[in-house]
Amino acid sequence: MSQNDENPVVIQVEGVRKTFGDLHVLKGCDLTVRSGEVAVLVGPSGSGKSTLLRCINQLEEPTAGRVLIDGVVQGYRAEPLPDGRWQKLRPAEIAAQRSRIGMVFQRFHLFPHLTALANVMEAPVQVRGLPRAAAEKKARDLLERVGLGDRADHYPSELSGGQQQRVAIARALAMDPELMLFDEPTSALDPELVSEVLSVLKDLAADGMTMVVVTHEMGFAREVADQVVFMDEGRILESGTAEQVIDHPESERLKGFLASVL
Ligand code: ADP
Ligand code: MG
Repeated sequence: MSQNDENPVVIQVEGVRKTFGDLHVLKGCDLTVRSGEVAVLVGPSGSGKSTLLRCINQLEEPTAGRVLIDGVVQGYRAEPLPDGRWQKLRPAEIAAQRSRIGMVFQRFHLFPHLTALANVMEAPVQVRGLPRAAAEKKARDLLERVGLGDRADHYPSELSGGQQQRVAIARALAMDPELMLFDEPTSALDPELVSEVLSVLKDLAADGMTMVVVTHEMGFAREVADQVVFMDEGRILESGTAEQVIDHPESERLKGFLASVL
């Protein structure tokens, strides 16, 4: 699957650790995702998958280690101070870095009082200052792309979970992200609605979007993942192609995990 080996590295996670008080949630994680690659992150509940995603887009600050996006260390000035210390970015500068990364959560977090169209237009207008007409055109195109061109004027409460999640994806895409992070995007959905969301993810992957997807959908991983990454107790225990990780697991932990989800 790895036709992307020559592509530039987009996400570089280097030795990332994260502690909450005495709790060691990430115990030194390294991950490389190249442009156009899809990395699927799997592992038991509590193994640190969400925390790793949150470190990638600066919703959490690593306790140690660092995250580079396009070679730029996230959260810090490009050059150290004369005394060698690295200086943290200001909140507005961090927001600018974060705005290049789209994130979709298990729960859709749409604005309930806004239509699908207005949900997708919100950030481009409010954050980027895009003129309303241009934002609307773009939002309609994106809703079309996720198969919801005919639902633009519906409120979230009038949409199924799968449709709401697709609006959430369109909303993230409206900011022209360079990469997308998905944290269990289908886990809150009724089983019959899972495939409509996964098919949007597959389309995005086919269009060359760089993506990290936390999911238990092993069929999706097999079909789309350039690399499958198995996390357990804050560590990346195994990673490789779907064939390597899903079909030829090495550790007992991964074998046990696969038996529980397959
Ligand atoms: P996963 O997504 O793999 O289920 P998480 O990254 O959500 O795992 O959580 C890993 C561990 O970190 C869990 O034990 C969780 O309770 C803990 N954790 C996550 N976020 C926080 C936080 N903000 N404060 C304290 N503990 C946290
Ligand atoms: Mg999680």
